Amino acid sequence: KRDSLRLSTLRPRLFLPPAKPRPPGDIFINNEWHDAVSKKTFPTINPATAEVICQVAEGEKADVEKAVKAAKDAFKLGSPWRRMDASHRGLLLSRLADCIERDAAYLALCKPTVVYNDQCAIHSDKGSELRTVLSSVGCWWVCRYYAGWADKWEGKTIPIDGDYFCYTRHELIGVCGQIIPWNFPLLMQAWKLGPALATGNTVVMKVAEQTPLTALYVASLIKEVGFPAGVVNIIPGMGPTAGAAIASHMDVDKVAFTGSTEVGHLILKASSSSNLKKVTLELGGKSPNIILSDANMAEAVEQSHFALFFNQGQCCCAGSRTYVQESIYDEFVERSVERAKKRTVGDPFDLNTEQGPQVDEEQFQKILGYISSGKRDGAKLMCGGEAAADHGYFIQPTIFRDVKDDMTIAREEIFGPVMQILKFKSLDEVIERANDSKYGLAAAVFTQNIDKAHYISNGLRAGTVWINCYDVFGAQAPFGGYKASGIGRELGEYGLDNYTEVKTVTIKVPQKNS
Ligand code: NAD
Repeated sequence: KRDSLRLSTLRPRLFLPPAKPRPPGDIFINNEWHDAVSKKTFPTINPATAEVICQVAEGEKADVEKAVKAAKDAFKLGSPWRRMDASHRGLLLSRLADCIERDAAYLALCKPTVVYNDQCAIHSDKGSELRTVLSSVGCWWVCRYYAGWADKWEGKTIPIDGDYFCYTRHELIGVCGQIIPWNFPLLMQAWKLGPALATGNTVVMKVAEQTPLTALYVASLIKEVGFPAGVVNIIPGMGPTAGAAIASHMDVDKVAFTGSTEVGHLILKASSSSNLKKVTLELGGKSPNIILSDANMAEAVEQSHFALFFNQGQCCCAGSRTYVQESIYDEFVERSVERAKKRTVGDPFDLNTEQGPQVDEEQFQKILGYISSGKRDGAKLMCGGEAAADHGYFIQPTIFRDVKDDMTIAREEIFGPVMQILKFKSLDEVIERANDSKYGLAAAVFTQNIDKAHYISNGLRAGTVWINCYDVFGAQAPFGGYKASGIGRELGEYGLDNYTEVKTVTIKVPQKNS
């Protein structure tokens, strides 16, 4: 209900004094803060109230030029970064993790971004205030994990034919462009920085225009822990200007991008028409979540709710096609609707809140448009369907039943709190329908039958399959997409491949018996 949102409690807490004074300029190059070359700025908005929090420098092509030069210089042979022992690189990453942990409360509270909102959801499930604040910046685990890899990423010796000694070296790629989205700003930053720095690369990162503030705070920590100047450069700015300038830059050796599939195409094109830089992509999804008739109903309803509504539905791997076997379909829908109606929507700083606002007006309008299309196409709206407040960008938890595979809401990524529940009969049928998507990011199966779980899991064309759980991530386990959901994997040992060139060295040795 609109008036159930306590706007009055939001306002006084929006402008907590920062732990450190905000530095002049917001573009972080060579461990220094700069205004944009153009002097342009753009507003960053609080999505709970639609009010401007502050202005941020808007980096463009000229700023990217400066940042790439700094990253290239930091990468030169003989530079402090190139001379640094791998174990010391690991130590710096580990210190960065310590600082993020130290400043967790500030990072979690300084701005009511989606970062904090989604942690309210985690908190209300788990019930511990301290853990809520800390888990919202749990990205330090990724830094700590990759800190450990820095001096353990080893090559091989290879027994080639002849009198030769052959070995491989895993070497850094060079200047890595990294372009990240807004839905998990801190986590995305850590997923990108961790493997790039552990393997000794230098970075030019463009953060999402919707969520620049936490990333800039992390930049100040990068300087504090002692990364040499130019190793990490961070630019807030727009995609078609700053982002495109990175993607097409001749001195950027690799681009790692997370975001929409549409922009993923542009990044690939920019690479192919410039220097053929290496590209890894983490893109969108329309992940099937399959509930078999023998599933534990209470658990399946709760997990499916979490799978879709977590982070206001703004997850690339959201379980956004919920396939339910026909014999339990009606009961599952009824219980899911009951659960969605209980979902608390409101003040992102209220620890009882499960759902905060969508990130901005554009996403908010886009989601409302998808809800209209679901109604038009004949899906049955069971709850929600409207804005949840007369301020900010809140949307009611929404569920459609009787959704058909060819409806727009079953094919396109909504990226909002809108659940589609579809009916199926047999296992082979649901595998085929689940795979009938251009995406292949994630999937889940709920069943108490291990044979069926494996059968479905093996048949699904997705980079991650969860069985009787959802959104379970570990820094140690890879994540990425089949088909149009991406190229390459992030996290775990696999994530290091994206940031490494393999060099083969062959040495002639004295002949046998000579
Ligand atoms: P987006 O593609 O519009 O933006 C992502 C980033 O790319 C932003 O920093 C943006 O400024 C930049 N960008 C935009 N246009 C660009 C261009 N022409 N050249 C270079 N950079 C450009 O995506 P979004 O709407 O911000 O994020 C939501 C999308 O991201 C969803 O589709 C979601 O599924 C996807 N996503 C995927 C993952 C994953 O791991 N697979 C994770 C998070 C989000």
